Amino acid sequence: MPFSSLGLSKALIEVIAEQNYAQPYPIQLEAIPAILKGKDLLGIARTGSGKTAGYVLPILEMLQHQEPTKNRYIKTLVLVPSRELAVQVGEVFQLFASRIPRKVKIRAVFGGVSVNPQMMQMIGTDILVATPGRLLDLVSSNAVKLSKVNTLVVDEADKMLNLGFKEEMNSIFTLLPAERQNLLFSATLSNEVITIKELLLKDPGIIRIDEEDTYIEHIRQVGYYIENERKGPLLRYLIKKENMQQVLVFVSSIKRADNVVNKLYINGIDAEALHSERSQGGRTTALKNFKSGKLRVSTSKFSIR
Ligand code: AMP
Repeated sequence: MPFSSLGLSKALIEVIAEQNYAQPYPIQLEAIPAILKGKDLLGIARTGSGKTAGYVLPILEMLQHQEPTKNRYIKTLVLVPSRELAVQVGEVFQLFASRIPRKVKIRAVFGGVSVNPQMMQMIGTDILVATPGRLLDLVSSNAVKLSKVNTLVVDEADKMLNLGFKEEMNSIFTLLPAERQNLLFSATLSNEVITIKELLLKDPGIIRIDEEDTYIEHIRQVGYYIENERKGPLLRYLIKKENMQQVLVFVSSIKRADNVVNKLYINGIDAEALHSERSQGGRTTALKNFKSGKLRVSTSKFSIR
């Protein structure tokens, strides 16, 4: 079934075509019509499944039929676990909203940067993408009001719980009106995610996208079983031999992320670490350079709790 049969208007279909999305991904096929019907939804899907466009498109469709926001009462709230995801989701909203005839104000807020500029931007915001802690800061300074939210999205719920945001999330839920649409996305269905599901969702549609159905193409997975002291030399050898141009290295700690960067650097390979002990500005620039191909290697702590 093509995107044009899913109930999306011309302004959205045009951007989808510009992005060369030939067909809806499975999660989009199910999620878009269900969300447009006003249903609550539980999506068990990983990054790579296309889940972001799966909720961004119907939310923008519904928003076109609502009055623009003029005050601090936001309509759509998207909770995400990290600054990086907040920026990314904000960008997907901006992209797909670009041809909508009425102005849609979208803002992404997260901690680690000054709160004042974010406070000033809240008036007239239709869609707010936020990490939980910073959202509560903005609520407590009256910069934003949540009592008229009509659509709540919780993205990467399992990660949010792993990062210890449970209390903040519960505080946020108590500030929302009873009548609203709830969309919950998680890569896994842990007991804690089930608790949130029970708390938030009323008679939800449930979509489960298995790993094989996700469209992460062109990925070849290879494992090397070697001693610790040979890991660094092997990494450098592979980067050079295979002429790898964009390499993301996950390591077990912040210290290791810095060590790997230093070793690569000494060996003439351009690398930077992405971790929480760096300033937000440093992280943003490193990520931007990595995405654009200016920076060859980025190292990051892989956190499982
Ligand atoms: P997500 O799982 O939302 O992070 O999306 C993963 C990637 O898939 C993003 O780079 C999207 O731009 C891309 N994508 C999403 N939907 C489609 C589609 N229907 N066709 C092609 N690419 C898509």
